[in-house]
Amino acid sequence: MRGSFKIAQVAGISINVHVTFLLLLIVFGRFFFFVLAVFFFVTLHELAHSLVAKKFGINVKEITLLPIGGIASMAKMPEKPYQEFFISIAGPLTNIAVVVIFYFPLRTLFGSDVFFGALGSFFTGYMPADFKYGFVICQIYWVNLILAIFNLLPAFPMDGGRILRSLLAQRLGFRKATKIAVNFGHIFAILFGYIGLMHGRIILLIIAVFIYMAASSEGVHVDVRAVLRKFRVKDILPTNFLTLAPDANLAKVLELIFHSHQEDFPVIGPSDRMLGFVTRQDVVNGIHQYGVNGLVSSCMRQEIPSVRDQETLYDVQNIMQERSVKALPVTKGGKVVGIVTTEDISRVYSMMAGRS
Ligand SMILES: [Zn+2]
Repeated sequence: MRGSFKIAQVAGISINVHVTFLLLLIVFGRFFFFVLAVFFFVTLHELAHSLVAKKFGINVKEITLLPIGGIASMAKMPEKPYQEFFISIAGPLTNIAVVVIFYFPLRTLFGSDVFFGALGSFFTGYMPADFKYGFVICQIYWVNLILAIFNLLPAFPMDGGRILRSLLAQRLGFRKATKIAVNFGHIFAILFGYIGLMHGRIILLIIAVFIYMAASSEGVHVDVRAVLRKFRVKDILPTNFLTLAPDANLAKVLELIFHSHQEDFPVIGPSDRMLGFVTRQDVVNGIHQYGVNGLVSSCMRQEIPSVRDQETLYDVQNIMQERSVKALPVTKGGKVVGIVTTEDISRVYSMMAGRS
């Protein structure tokens, strides 16, 4: 996520802190230790989601810590409802495990008064005059219970909402289940927003806005996915497209871009073999570096995945997102038969959305 920096790496997942998180430390400077400890357990919670996701073959690149909680960025959505169920429940279960494991040790160590007093302090705001570190440790312990309960609320796309969707999806299908879950998300967001406003809790207000927007965008995403799964590359492939020779110069490429609507080109060598791929951005960079007389071969990218014409648009979109490219060459029987771009895909979506 933009504006965040890496603080650790666990099991191939980089743990990042967003700059806004530092604000939290400034605002709660007095409770520095408390904030740090709470976010240790938030990280543990996100790691649990991530490790289960990895078990199902879903790559998790990073966990970002924001003032309102953690986000594990998964490369794709889980395909099966049971996968989403286990990924989602793993986080809250981790916090519940902490609560169970440390219940007797902490109660014995600090005594019931301090132990339960710390839990009560979240609701009453009461702090004992003879403030002790044991009290803070118990507060941090109870944060795990609050995290578990809060995350289990069916406020999609929070964990509870995802669990709800996965259960509904078994019977209703993914799309309908998502619609219902998104409604739950919106209702809870409005509720959180109302409580936040009434009690002047800014954090709750921010969480409300975040949940509302995230619920909407996941709803749209699922619609997009359903539409794009119905189409294969061959259904939308333009019949004519231009290719470049590796020894063409960039002035020639500019001319082609201006005269056609094509902005990305496969570079084809002798015997029709694809040598590389040039995007509009590559051309711009190439002209910057070598001038208009520079050669295509000097600015083309060679490590570009190609997609087969049988692939669904949804899969193509995933590849584009994973590799951060806006266009891909399409091959059939080892030969380049065209290119597919993000614009092609969004055109299909905007024409088909709402029809199905
Ligand atoms: Zn979670």
